[in-house]
Formats: sequence, structure tokens, C-alpha cells
Amino acid sequence: PTCLFFLALPPRNLPRAKTRPPRLSRWGKGLGESRQRAPDTHNLPLLELPSKARPFEAAMPTNGRPNMPKFHTLRVKEVRRETPECVSISFEVPEELRSEFAFLPGQHLTLKAELDGEELRRNYSICTAPQEGELRVAVKKLEGGRFSTFANERLSPGTELEVMTPSGSFHTPLSAEHRKHYVAFAAGSGITPIISILKAVLHTEPHSRFTLFYCNRTKESTIFREELEALKNRFLDRLSLYFLFTREKPGIELFHGRIDAPKLKALSEKLLDLEDVDEVFVCGPEPMIRAVRETLPALGFPERHIHFELFTSPSGPLVPQAAGPAKARPQVVAQVEVTLDGNRYDLELTSNGESLLEAGLR
Ligand SMILES: Cc1cc2nc3c(=O)[nH]c(=O)nc-3n(C[C@H](O)[C@H](O)[C@H](O)COP(=O)(O)OP(=O)(O)OC[C@H]3O[C@@H](n4cnc5c(N)ncnc54)[C@H](O)[C@@H]3O)c2cc1C
Repeated sequence: PTCLFFLALPPRNLPRAKTRPPRLSRWGKGLGESRQRAPDTHNLPLLELPSKARPFEAAMPTNGRPNMPKFHTLRVKEVRRETPECVSISFEVPEELRSEFAFLPGQHLTLKAELDGEELRRNYSICTAPQEGELRVAVKKLEGGRFSTFANERLSPGTELEVMTPSGSFHTPLSAEHRKHYVAFAAGSGITPIISILKAVLHTEPHSRFTLFYCNRTKESTIFREELEALKNRFLDRLSLYFLFTREKPGIELFHGRIDAPKLKALSEKLLDLEDVDEVFVCGPEPMIRAVRETLPALGFPERHIHFELFTSPSGPLVPQAAGPAKARPQVVAQVEVTLDGNRYDLELTSNGESLLEAGLR
């Protein structure tokens, strides 16, 4: 059965009302970043796209209620090898379903397939920007992983899959008026929603900048490396790109090793003026998300401006817990809307009581 929960609460991550002109002085200092004159990228198309590509742009829900997600059968258009362990998959979206598959950068699709007699459902973040007019996800093969192995080894164009309309709240409202500096930390397949947001920002906000710190084992295992480098060449003045490797020595020690608390402190000291950052996006392994959520606030960056997406169930609370016994904290009551097999139920959930699942089952 389909069981979806929507918290009818105001969005957690409101943008900071701040308009600051782009500032380039500290970026890439001493690290050999290209200093050549940047082209005027404001009116360039995002990527070289076929002229018939039409955007999949979705309006931000204004009533706090996203559209009800629904499965449709879509045909796989292309399976492209991105790295030895990752393929990206694009879908043919028939004209009559285009509006249902409109998405916000950072959202994901749920794919449903029957493998060896068992129905599997897996989420995959959309790795294109809505403006590209293409619905594409990337699947990294996990050792022993059923769906990801199937996608990497057996999936071919023409196969039909059940695909749920886009969902997820890993995004922020974009506007051509913004003059923001976005920073993202990604590792491995965590790049998928981040590259969608990055491309959408560069396309939609001509006065905003984006800085990406992206960690992988090696250059070869870095998903979308060439695409990111091409974007860097195109948006020289607005995109700063830093690759970190754990199993290769990149020459500069700062770019060797995982994104953990000491690395975040070092990056903040040498490359990142947190005062100058508006919003942070983070997607990757749980320890990296924890490190960002704990270290940046400790360095003075407001926690409410950190957006995160976790691909696995957390092993404990991801939000740093306030000191003192839980009972001492004020109780919050949330209105929850549950959709189960197409039926809607409304219920109340208290922060000190049942979990979402327990309340939903009640
Ligand atoms: C919002 C969201 C977005 C996501 N986006 C992406 C994305 O863009 N790209 C991407 O690649 N992934 C993404 N994921 C992760 C994805 O949904 C899958 O979880 C992932 O592909 C693994 O699925 P699988 O069927 O291959 O692995 P599974 O078969 O579910 O196995 C997962 C892991 O558990 C191990 N395992 C399985 N069974 C057992 C067992 N009995 N005992 C011990 N270990 C076991 C496997 O070896 C494997 O390492 C996302 C997840 C979420 C929640």
C-alpha cells in the first residue's frame, strides 16, 4: 500500500532577506582557479538542448499541499553510463503527463519494478534542472543492492517502469531577483539532487553564485564530473567547484579526504566566508550530513538555512539535540495529512509522542 505523509506546517527553511552583490575576492584564492574574464552568462541557454526541449517547471505549491503523487507507466528513453558504477536513466514523458511530471529542482521520483517476483520501490533524485526539459535520474550500483544492480546491468531503453510523480521538499524558492550565495556539500550519488539545484540556480538567478564541494573516492568514480566542469567553464564567475578525493591525492591536502568536521573547519577557514553564504544544501552519507549540521552552526552559520537530503534511514536524530532532558522541551502539535491508497486522513501528532508511522497506522 502507498502511505504518504505530508506535514501541514510552514516550510522550515525560509530564505534570508538579503541582497548582496556578488563578491569574488576570496574564491579560489591561491588554488589556481581560473581568473580569466568571465563571459556574460546571463542570457545563455543552460545547456545545448534540442530546440524542442520544453521545461518541466512546476509551480511551488502555494497552499502548503503538494499534488498527490501517483504512479504512471513510463518508457525508458536512454540508459547512459556515467561512471563504471553509475548509470543515468531518462524517461519518455507523453504529452498528456507532462504537467504531472513537472518538478522542482531537488525533488525525486519513486520507481517501482518487479524483480524476481518481488515488487521493489526505490527513490531516485532527478538530476536534470526543470529548464532542461528532460526527466532523468542517476542510479549508483550498491554492492548487493537489488534495484541499483538491475538498473546498472540489465535496464535498457524501451523498458517500461512504474514511475511516481515527483515529490520531496529538498528545494528552496528561486527567483531572478535573488542575489544569493548557495553552497552545497555532496558525496557520491548525493550529487543528483544537488546538480539539479545548481543548474536551476545558475539558470534562474543571474545574480546568484553557487559553490560546490563534491567528495568521491577517485576522479573516475565522480558522477557528472565532465558536466560540472563544462558548467564551470560556462559560468566562470558564478560557479566555484571543488572536488575532494578520498583514495587519490589531489596535490593539495585540503582536497584529500572526507567531508567531516575538521575538513569543514579547514574549508571554512581557507575558502568559505560563512558570513557571505545564504543557503547550504547537503546530500550524501549520514556522517557527512551530521558533520555539516553540527559544524556549520558551531561556526556561526544559522542551522535553519541548511537543507539536507538523506538517501538512507537515519541511525539517530539528525538535528542536533538541545541539552537537557527531552521532557523539558515544549511540546509541538502538528496537523498531519495521511494519504493511504488514495484516501486522505487528518490527524494530530505531538512532538513528544508517537512516531509518524505509529500515528498513521492508528
Ligand atoms: C529521497 C531519496 C533519494 C535518493 N536518490 C538516489 C539517487 O539519486 N541515486 C542513487 O543511486 N540512490 C538514491 N537513493 C537511494 C535509493 O533509493 C536506493 O536506496 C539505493 O539505490 C539502493 O537500492 P537497492 O535496491 O539497489 O539496494 P537494496 O537491495 O535495498 O540494498 C541496500 C543495501 O543494503 C544491503 N542489503 C540488502 N539486503 C541486505 C541484507 N539482508 N542484509 C544486509 N545487507 C543487505 C545491500 O547490499 C545494499 O548495500 C535515494 C534515496 C532516497 C530516500
